[in-house]
Amino acid sequence: MVELHHIYAALFAVVAAIAFALTAVAWRHRATRGARPLALLMLGIVIWAGASAAMWSVPTFPGQVFWLRMMSLGTWMVPVGFLNLALDVARIDRWRTPGRIALIAIPPFLLAVTQWPNPGRLYDRAFMGLAVGSHTHYTSVPGPLYWAFTMFAYAMIVLGLVIIIRVHRRSSGTERARTTILLIGAIVPFVASMVSESRLLPLSGLDLAPLAFLVTGTLWLAALSRGQLLDILPVARDALVEQMPDGVVVLDDKDRVADANPAALNILDVTRPAPVGQPAEILLGGVTDAVFSLRESVAGGGEKRGDAAVPIGCSDDCRYVDFRVTALDTGSRVRPAHLVVLHDVTEERRRKKLLETAHAELERNHRLIVALNDKLQEQAIRDPLTTLYNRRFLEDSLPREMALAEREKTSLAFLLLDIDDFKLVNDDYSHSAGDAVLKMVSEVLLSGARVADIVRRYGGDEFLVVMVNAGTDIAYARSNDLRKQIEERRVVWDQGEFSITVSIGVSSVPASGVTAEDGIAAADGALYRAKESGRNRTAAAPDRKGSWRVTGEDVAS
Ligand code: GH3
Ligand code: MG
Repeated sequence: MVELHHIYAALFAVVAAIAFALTAVAWRHRATRGARPLALLMLGIVIWAGASAAMWSVPTFPGQVFWLRMMSLGTWMVPVGFLNLALDVARIDRWRTPGRIALIAIPPFLLAVTQWPNPGRLYDRAFMGLAVGSHTHYTSVPGPLYWAFTMFAYAMIVLGLVIIIRVHRRSSGTERARTTILLIGAIVPFVASMVSESRLLPLSGLDLAPLAFLVTGTLWLAALSRGQLLDILPVARDALVEQMPDGVVVLDDKDRVADANPAALNILDVTRPAPVGQPAEILLGGVTDAVFSLRESVAGGGEKRGDAAVPIGCSDDCRYVDFRVTALDTGSRVRPAHLVVLHDVTEERRRKKLLETAHAELERNHRLIVALNDKLQEQAIRDPLTTLYNRRFLEDSLPREMALAEREKTSLAFLLLDIDDFKLVNDDYSHSAGDAVLKMVSEVLLSGARVADIVRRYGGDEFLVVMVNAGTDIAYARSNDLRKQIEERRVVWDQGEFSITVSIGVSSVPASGVTAEDGIAAADGALYRAKESGRNRTAAAPDRKGSWRVTGEDVAS
């Protein structure tokens, strides 16, 4: 028949088996932070629960006492594993020297195993039989050494719990979920022991602790395996910070250097190793004031970037750094610590300067090109000697005037003027005398022209005047005036003065044709006629009647 003690024995056997499996899993993951202490803790549970199972299976007093003592081989491992796991999770690594771990582990071990010799009955004062159904369960009447062990073990577990609570309070994000699981796992044995002690449940002689630690172990294993991923982060972060090109400096709450990566030392021109623990000025040098003033502005938390790049080591070649300061909330402390990230912008600034210079040069050249182009364009259309627009510029204005004349049914007259014997002027007087003649002629033409008229230098000593709203007659009369004015003008040059004459051919459209080319060709023909007739003449192209008109003579076609 199945009795209660059989159920207890079976329960502990199952607990031991599960604990064994968890030990194996934890050991397999021993590279993960916290896994080794967890394996130790679970091994303790294996021995504790296994011995309990055996104890509940044997009926004899010596048998039960033997297994009770066997438990002690496991019980000491539980608080030792618990505290070490808490230290592992809190990353309190520096403190944990092998000597100190031994100091934690040896007293509970020694206290636990004194149960075997039980000197002077100081551990188990006596044993008491307790009826659990038909089975007699022997429990120990604890002596001072038992209490010493229990107190020590509780103290270690409380300490571990405090550490895990602190870790939990400081954690955030994904880490928070993990530390919450760790915390729940840590609290379970307390709740269990409270339930056991309070005897709320009718569990005669049953010690719930191994069961509770089994729950702890399972939860922690889950948390640690989640943490296996998270554990990569600090390693990755360390690798990143070590290798990143930006300088990273951590200042503690008392403005001492807590950390500095190789890039920071390089940028700040400080030789290795980093002056950890020393005042910030020793590392930051000339940048200290700028960093400190920025630090004040992040006093309320957050991050701030320096306004301008700060020069470093300016004796020969300046390096410039740009920096950011971030306040690091270190929890309970009144002042935050600070993270300073330094970015070397020397090369960036040099490139920017080069680019600016190149840009300015480009702009200057562009302006020069635009000016030259304007000048060239002007030169292409304007004759530099007389400042009149040249023949090329006709293409711009003539079609417009032709269209207007056609629309308004008015005439457009063409005067083609050529200086008589101009070659002789050049030859007899000089080329500059020739230039003076060209200037004089252009002046006369300009002053005699109406606003709407177009006056152009047409060729070497040829000029073209297009008279708007004028027929051949008007043009003929006005050309005669112009010719006389030119004849009367004295041309002054450095060796004296002289006068010249011109010949003018006149035509108009639509009288002499349809297009501007027709008009100019007709004027050219008339000019030829004027030259032929002895020069210093004005000739008009034949009108509809076909008769020529030349000053001083009437010529029939
Ligand atoms: P004609 O009465 O038949 O017109 O005789 P011409 O000597 O004037 O002959 P033509 O009109 O063919 O001669 C033009 C001369 O004008 C030739 C050239 O040496 C001169 N010439 C052309 N451009 C300039 C200039 O810008 N300055 C000066 N000084 N002479 C020029
Ligand atoms: Mg000529």
